[in-house]
Amino acid sequence: MRVFTNYQKFLKQIEEVKKLDYKPSLLLHSCCAPCSCYPLLILKDYFDITIFYNNSNIYPESEFELRYDTLCEYVNKINNEYDSNIKIIKQSYDNESFNAILEKRKDDKEGKVRCFMCYSLRYKELCEYASKNNFEYVCSVMTISRQKNEEMINKILEGYASKYNNLTYLYSNFKKDKGLEKAQQIIKETKMYSQNYCGCKFSIRENIEH
Ligand code: SF4
Repeated sequence: MRVFTNYQKFLKQIEEVKKLDYKPSLLLHSCCAPCSCYPLLILKDYFDITIFYNNSNIYPESEFELRYDTLCEYVNKINNEYDSNIKIIKQSYDNESFNAILEKRKDDKEGKVRCFMCYSLRYKELCEYASKNNFEYVCSVMTISRQKNEEMINKILEGYASKYNNLTYLYSNFKKDKGLEKAQQIIKETKMYSQNYCGCKFSIRENIEH
């Protein structure tokens, strides 16, 4: 039996969406503008996008706000340039509750179990919100990141999405088709703020150590 990659599944889903006579709604998890800049350019042509910014993993709060502001600035730019209507929903900051869970695996290297727990916390909330508010699709921009395991992201998010009959999971691997290079080019051209650590306080420490 042929096994499709997440990227092939994504392309197939986009072909299906193209046949529709409307743009289905997509609740798109975004962690920051640098990771979102290229995925948004692709997805805006096929979906009615609402970004879900629920990233209480980010430490400190000023960084959470800075990444949010950078994202808003980029979304405004896209909306103006392409006459699109991408919206953003921001969830309140609660780093303490997040850390109470992540602390258990504070010594993990980035990309290991602590990160899978971190994806889970955010994707669970994304799917609950999406289902309750009748979004059709869910997805996350995070598969573009070089440091992130796209297989695990797809597996975890698909698992939560499958709990809801009214949600369709949009597979992704935004690294494909030179996604990383295209994102780097946008970051350079727009001079947007681009952080040098993933987000949690443990990743700041890792960044200093390397
Ligand atoms: S390194 Fe990034 S993904 Fe991993 S736990 Fe920290 S903030 Fe979350």
